[in-house]
Amino acid sequence: MTATSTKETLKVEKLHVGYGKTAALHGVDMEINAGEVVALIGANGAGKSTVLRAISGLLKPSSGRITWNGQSIGAMAADRIVSAGIAHCPEERHVWPNMTVQENLALGAYLCRDKTETERRIGIAFHRFPRLRERHRQLAGTLSGGEQQMLAIARALMSEPRLLMLDEPSLGLSPKMADEVFDVVREINQHGVTVLVVEQNVHNALSVASRAYVVETGRVAASKDAAHLLNDPELLSAYLGG
Ligand code: ATP
Repeated sequence: MTATSTKETLKVEKLHVGYGKTAALHGVDMEINAGEVVALIGANGAGKSTVLRAISGLLKPSSGRITWNGQSIGAMAADRIVSAGIAHCPEERHVWPNMTVQENLALGAYLCRDKTETERRIGIAFHRFPRLRERHRQLAGTLSGGEQQMLAIARALMSEPRLLMLDEPSLGLSPKMADEVFDVVREINQHGVTVLVVEQNVHNALSVASRAYVVETGRVAASKDAAHLLNDPELLSAYLGG
């Protein structure tokens, strides 16, 4: 993990979020500091994805605060949150299947109006993901699951975020491919990007994270050192419901 000189902090305070009238988060508190990899773990339906959706502006809090570098972002439109330096790579991947790899990447930089700058970022993506370079003219829908996940991450990085949020990056992937995805997460973090990751593969998540928040029925049940949780399988399974 590389610490950066900037003081980028994401703070979530007493966050309540619902879907219509149904409450999903009941007062979540968390803090993520520059250069960290933090994992959100917890049982299915605990509210992990909802936390990410609220931070990225896809869902609006019913109460509570979300601040990024001291600025309140809870009411901000999603594209302004991207401009402010937060990118969200959602669980469903959502690459555009009928567009090429290169077109998907270019659209990831939609807030950047400068063609030369967009091309520079695509060059960085191809350097980081050589397999995407090899397949740059291939339609995204014809990529393997692992390649689509790499493309989704590469596309999220096209906005040059300071905080990258990944929702279930290894979902549906082979163990080998999941390892590759987590190697990429490590590498991205080593380049100074802060990472918040939601992951069912708790072992992978805790291997790359320094800290973890355990989410339980819309609340943070615990905040722990990742190494501590990895070394205490009983505690971990108690949190995750076996
Ligand atoms: P999983 O790992 O299964 O994705 P999660 O911890 O990410 O779980 P969320 O997806 O955040 O959990 O869901 C939290 C709660 O909100 C759950 O009770 C879920 O049923 C509900 N929920 C999630 N999405 C919606 C939606 N679009 N409409 C209504 N309720 C939803």
